[in-house]
Amino acid sequence: MLEGKTAIVTGSTGGIGLGIAKALAGAGARVMLNGLGDPAEIEALRSGIAQSTGVEVGFQGADMQRSGEIAELVSATARVWGSVDILVNNAGIQHVAPIEDFPEERWDAIMSVNLSSAFHSIRHALPLMRRNNWGRIINIASAHGLVASTHKAAYVAAKHGIVGLTKVVALETAQTRITCNAICPGWVLTPLVQKQIDVMAAREGLSAQSARQQLLLEKQPSGEFATPEEIGALAVFLCSPAANQIRGASLSIDGGWTAQ
Ligand code: NAD
Repeated sequence: MLEGKTAIVTGSTGGIGLGIAKALAGAGARVMLNGLGDPAEIEALRSGIAQSTGVEVGFQGADMQRSGEIAELVSATARVWGSVDILVNNAGIQHVAPIEDFPEERWDAIMSVNLSSAFHSIRHALPLMRRNNWGRIINIASAHGLVASTHKAAYVAAKHGIVGLTKVVALETAQTRITCNAICPGWVLTPLVQKQIDVMAAREGLSAQSARQQLLLEKQPSGEFATPEEIGALAVFLCSPAANQIRGASLSIDGGWTAQ
């Protein structure tokens, strides 16, 4: 379905981004991976996806805190493959602390990786999409883009921000064949969430298994994690013609979290 299309997925060296990259490659798109990590492990991921899907897969290690490197991610992808058709803004980080103790440096880092990076990448990719009058921008927000939790001031603010940014871009592209939407996952078991489980287990003297159950039951009525594969499948659907008129939407995959 996506043969001939070029996709960038930020923060795709692990977790949800990797699930999305694999799903887009599986649907036939060329994929530019991005993210932090060990170069040998990233190369193994890159070549593994290329081999299993038969599509071209690249890697560009732009730091999503740096606007110049984000510009280079977009222009390097267009240089190699001619354009950027699909942009998935997924890179994200977390820090958990009451607002009085929230380190200023963590606030700035979360704002820049989880929110400003999407502003920069969209600004650079949109002219390329307009040239072909086709594009898909998918922002990975969160249940925390729709509702709040304690001790996540920066994350909740950034994720609400990206839901707003999604709506603005959807309106500015409404009369084109470019769409912009947000996906709002609930808990997905990735390194970002495992860290929070480890902290909870240590703080409350729980086993890893009980901490995982407690974390789920506090928020996610299904009692089950959503998976990177499920998020990837929704991203592929948003790239399909069936999604032509889904614009500015925030689509939850959260086991019922935000239905409460
Ligand atoms: P993760 O920690 O498993 O992966 C994050 C990815 O972002 C990694 O590839 C990492 O290398 C990359 N990254 C981090 N900082 C970067 C930087 N400065 N520059 C470039 N890349 C950087 O996290 P995840 O759980 O897969 O989260 C992915 C996205 O999904 C995030 O935006 C997160 O907020 C969102 N999300 C996650 C959950 C969840 O439960 N895991 C729920 C809702 C939303």
